[in-house]
Amino acid sequence: MPETTPFWLAGRPATGDGELAVTHPYDGRPVGAVSVPTDEQVEQAVAAADAVRAQAAALPLHVRAEALAHVARRLGERAAEIARLITAENGKPLLWARGEVSRAISTFRFAAEETRRWSGRTQRLDTDPAAEGRMAYVSRVPHGPVLAITPFNFPLNLTAHKVAPAVAVGAPVIVKPAPATPLSALLLGEILAETGLPEGMFSVLPVPNERASALVEDPRLPVVSFTGSGPVGWMIKDLVPRKHVTLELGGNAAVVVCADADLDHAAARIGLFSNYQAGQSCIAVQRVYVAREAYESFVPRLVSAVEGLVTGDPWDEATQVGPLISEDAARRVESWVAEAVDGGAKVLTGGTREGASFAPTVLADVPADARVSCEEVFGPVLLVQPFDTLDEAFALVNDSRYGLQAGVFTRSLDVAFRANRELEVGGVVIGDVPSYRADQMPYGGVKESGVGREGLRSAMEDFTYEKVMVLTGL
Ligand code: NAD
Repeated sequence: MPETTPFWLAGRPATGDGELAVTHPYDGRPVGAVSVPTDEQVEQAVAAADAVRAQAAALPLHVRAEALAHVARRLGERAAEIARLITAENGKPLLWARGEVSRAISTFRFAAEETRRWSGRTQRLDTDPAAEGRMAYVSRVPHGPVLAITPFNFPLNLTAHKVAPAVAVGAPVIVKPAPATPLSALLLGEILAETGLPEGMFSVLPVPNERASALVEDPRLPVVSFTGSGPVGWMIKDLVPRKHVTLELGGNAAVVVCADADLDHAAARIGLFSNYQAGQSCIAVQRVYVAREAYESFVPRLVSAVEGLVTGDPWDEATQVGPLISEDAARRVESWVAEAVDGGAKVLTGGTREGASFAPTVLADVPADARVSCEEVFGPVLLVQPFDTLDEAFALVNDSRYGLQAGVFTRSLDVAFRANRELEVGGVVIGDVPSYRADQMPYGGVKESGVGREGLRSAMEDFTYEKVMVLTGL
């Protein structure tokens, strides 16, 4: 049996009184076990974060930047090992696991750079006669310790997106990783422990979901930064309406393919980014709207791109599409596809399940109220539908409770700017899929996809408030 991995309590490894088993989604074999903290240990971690908050906020910028650069360096040195750990616990193919490690390295590197640019500003107030001789010094101050709750689908990089900006602004952070994938976050804890940051500055606590609301409600953790599903995210916001809550939630991302697009390029990108990580990305392509005049030639290209994907064992170097996180998740996707087919949808390719793996699937003629259309599938399934006018296409994209990102394949600058004006999403990607994310750019949703923004600079602002000092007699 694999060894039990300790958790991180105020910067030190610790063991509790229970264990959480971690299994490999592809074949269910055990890949590890993590120690689960007791209530008393959770209390110790929160008390330590609270105790160190003033010291953390006062840490010199070069100390924070060096700590972040150290993490980026060590992730790089251990990249191969960490990618294997991600594949083991999450089941994503090595190809994508390696990509996630590179992105996490960039995330910490960007945070180190932003830390060196993190500065206050002065504002002259004598634009008003009554304020002659006065000036304001405006700085940003951490709200306090951050509770970072992360999902299973990017267990390292989405943890990095909360830990790195917290360290950058001088805020202690407590990570609560997803129960299916705690190992990468615990490994990040190991690297953070090498940085010499003050004890109490970070903890990684794999507490079960039913005990996590105690952390959410604890008044000593004024910031809750949550990435995960809508129901859990909005429940958390309702639970603590007075806290500073950031929600990065799900979506049913849409892409518009205009008649002037390079259809081969669009089909290849859409085919891949509907299915990468088995569709388990909040910005995986789910709805594809194609200009009627291009539809007949585009659909076979799309089906062929999807059928050309290499599926199977995530440890195989060539595999592009591996299993979902569990057999239950794959069964849910199967039932949603069956529901769409009952309603009249046609399966152009895929539609079959084997254990936790679901074949990359393209559906046409999907009823608008089918769950594969209006809910987040979070599986390797896309639907394709023709449109006659851009008005209709944009209305279809906007006909969603969600609004994370949208993509538009077009060569027209007019269409690009119109899409940016009219699409109700947090990000519009022109010439590519909505699944594109650069880790340094602002990222987040509107409508039920969430509130607040990540991306290093945005998250640093999110974790802090502006504080003004007025200087008199100048
Ligand atoms: P989830 O909501 O089931 O879990 C997310 C986290 O919340 C986990 O750590 C989980 O343990 C924790 N949690 C569950 N119940 C809780 C409770 N009562 N109190 C406190 N914490 C609790 O989501 P998931 O299945 O791990 O991840 C998939 C979801 O995440 C999808 O909906 C996906 O779209 C979304 N996601 C969004 C983004 C984004 O940036 N917008 C990125 C990745 C994933």
